[in-house]
Amino acid sequence: MELAVREVAPKNRKPRQKDESKLGFGRLFTDHMFEMDYHPDKGWHDPRIVPHHPLSLDPASMVLHYGQEAFEGLKAYRGKDDGVYLFRHRDNLKRMNNSCKRLVMPELPIDFISDCLKKLVLLDRDWIPTSTGCALYIRPNIIATDPFLGVRPSSTYLYYIILGPVGAYYPEGFNPVSIYVSDKYVRAVVGGVGDAKTAGNYAAGLLAQKEAKDKGFTQVLWLDAIERKYIEEVGTMNIFFKFGDEVVTSPLTGSILPGVTRDSVIQVLGKWGVKCTERNYSIGEVIAGLKDGHVTEVFGSGTAAIISPVKSIQYKGQDYQVGDGKTGPLSQKLYDYILSLQYGQQEDTFGWTERIDL
Ligand SMILES: *Cc1c(COP(=O)(O)O)cnc(C)c1O
Repeated sequence: MELAVREVAPKNRKPRQKDESKLGFGRLFTDHMFEMDYHPDKGWHDPRIVPHHPLSLDPASMVLHYGQEAFEGLKAYRGKDDGVYLFRHRDNLKRMNNSCKRLVMPELPIDFISDCLKKLVLLDRDWIPTSTGCALYIRPNIIATDPFLGVRPSSTYLYYIILGPVGAYYPEGFNPVSIYVSDKYVRAVVGGVGDAKTAGNYAAGLLAQKEAKDKGFTQVLWLDAIERKYIEEVGTMNIFFKFGDEVVTSPLTGSILPGVTRDSVIQVLGKWGVKCTERNYSIGEVIAGLKDGHVTEVFGSGTAAIISPVKSIQYKGQDYQVGDGKTGPLSQKLYDYILSLQYGQQEDTFGWTERIDL
């Protein structure tokens, strides 16, 4: 397949936000996007980099009615050497293919998409912020485009990638958050689509998120759907608890999104010789550990924040503080280390960081 490139004329390019402290998250988009179509007779075809533009879709397009879609979220980083870096991006592309399988959508050719993604990022490289913590967010998306009302897999699809500069997740510094355990709503159930990055999961979580926000909490801590007992995730992040010398996170049993950051945390802890166990653990075990001081650190993990420390947890109307309520030393060390790998500032023994502008 031949990638066609239609560039925006330099004089028509958008003005950029010069003050990187005002970038925010998910509001600004670059000049270009990537698109490619799927038709059952032709397979994936017509790959192109074009100006970022509104889509024209039939209002009957299946994605708009039945949510047949999948997305990804990753970042490109600008190093101190001005190099452009990607972090484990092929893992995101593989995960997207797993989401596609679950949603009965055609898989993408990973090598080809990886090339197109790099070309797109390099074309818009001037948009990559320079301050540490800021990055260029990359959002691949696949949507069902048959104009048809009726529940079946679509036969046609659009795949696209948009880019946007994003600010540091913690504009006021690395601050721990308060979270709320939902015992009324669940995010996902084994056998469902919780391990796919698909839109419906996020729509289904909005009401719990709103109720938590209204009560003054930043995120919802999700319990398993059947026993309402085992810890699953926090908001749209994976979650880790440090019990004494052991770090614990939930196993990937089907209702949990397999985070690339989660896997990075597990591997980094392994390299440091810190015991990290993937096992089921209950809210009861967590509350007991918070009460007797056995749980010393709690943190979420995800591409947006990398590490998000938790300072308190509310369960059934009771607040439990984590440690002294400040960011724990292990959370801080993980954050600093993974961030420095992503910006190409740290020797990478894992082979995760790839410089793409040479
Ligand atoms: C994207 C996501 C994560 C984190 O995945 P990363 O690859 O680390 O960004 C965790 N949980 C949910 C529900 C997610 O959507």
